[in-house]
Amino acid sequence: MKVFKFGGTSLGTPERFGKIPGLLSGEEKKIVVLSAISGTTDQLVRINACLAQEDKQGAGTVVNELERFYSKFIYSLFDWTPFYNQARLFVETRILRLRGLLERSFVREVENEILAQGELLSTGLFRCLLLARGEDFLYLYAPDILHKNTEGQPDMEYLRRALSKSITQNPATTLFITQGFICSNSHGKLDTLGRGGSDFTASLIGAALEVDEIQIWTDVDGVHNNDPRWVEETRPIPELSYDEADELAYFGAKVLHPACVFPAKQRNIPIRIKNTLNPEAPGTLVHEGRKGSSIKAVAVKGGITAVRIRSARMLMAYGFLRKVFEIFERYETPIDMISTSEVSVSLTIDDNSSLGQIVQELKELGVVEVDENQTIVCVVGDFMAEKPGMVRIVLNALREIPVRMISYGGSMNNVSLLLHEQDKDKALRALHHHLFLNREIHVN
Ligand code: ASP
Ligand code: MG
Repeated sequence: MKVFKFGGTSLGTPERFGKIPGLLSGEEKKIVVLSAISGTTDQLVRINACLAQEDKQGAGTVVNELERFYSKFIYSLFDWTPFYNQARLFVETRILRLRGLLERSFVREVENEILAQGELLSTGLFRCLLLARGEDFLYLYAPDILHKNTEGQPDMEYLRRALSKSITQNPATTLFITQGFICSNSHGKLDTLGRGGSDFTASLIGAALEVDEIQIWTDVDGVHNNDPRWVEETRPIPELSYDEADELAYFGAKVLHPACVFPAKQRNIPIRIKNTLNPEAPGTLVHEGRKGSSIKAVAVKGGITAVRIRSARMLMAYGFLRKVFEIFERYETPIDMISTSEVSVSLTIDDNSSLGQIVQELKELGVVEVDENQTIVCVVGDFMAEKPGMVRIVLNALREIPVRMISYGGSMNNVSLLLHEQDKDKALRALHHHLFLNREIHVN
């Protein structure tokens, strides 16, 4: 059994959408997880933003745009009249539902229901497409199978039981389809896994059923060795370990959602990243496999703020770090990088929303300095301690560039460097040149 997850861009045009069933041939059982069509969730977020400001008219305008988009979409997707009519009826019903939601008072439940419409639209249209093709399949409503517990974590045992039941009750069915991103909360209400969460859904389902492989279908040939937005001549990486993929996803590689590696790693299930626009390409395989001895990739995460706190009490000030972390915890602000000296600590955050209050409280502990417009450049690979020289190679590549902070040793899989945003392009190109183009780095 395999899980196939198709992202928004893979479904983004009627032509691409129409090609998905062709990628699902073969007798093997498959569970297909769909994102919303690209752009839709952004529109739904806009609707919620309007409603939060009591701008019902603005929200209505976005619903009209969605209606126009989907009307055109199904017109090109279904040129067989009976199925076109069915799809039209379906889209009209969903749009009507959305309009109805605009009239309700704007509470969390309504917000989540609005957000869920993208995946409900994509899976509903996929269902029409499969019916039109005469395929045998089972449609699963994700909130029925994927529940969060009281801690907000996915209930894996429930997911396993619910899926196994559907599969055993339908022994002849090979194709199961469901929504990514949406689930129910511990009160049984509609909820989501957060932006980009469809990858996480696929991984949770794959782990619950211990499938042979989780395939994430996107619009690039796998995870690239550098960020193609800033660097030319990047290449897809054939294989990554779970830890390397995890670091890359966390530090900015957009291909995989950071949460999606963990469930697969726990059950040792390979994740294969494939390109719907080029299905023949091998993509990237994430698995435990043989440990490499090379630098695999560079990822970049912008919009970082660095905060330095100099302790007011010099020397032996135990409890200082705890107090610092507690402040960030209180404002639910995760810390990415950290580096300490006897009297001060520097750390970075990517969520500035509570920065003002955080700084206010930190000032009670010491002198606080804040630097915005920073970027984390993360070099990922196998930096086993007994292979000397890897870190030197990275630093050598950056010898012309001021580095604000370095973090190394947290795992053997990454070196993270903090630079000013304005040096980002130069740093990425220098690393690319040094690490991947001039020579292959193999340290034995
Ligand atoms: N549709 C959701 C989003 O855009 C989830 C996903 O695509 O993974 O964030
Ligand atoms: Mg995604």
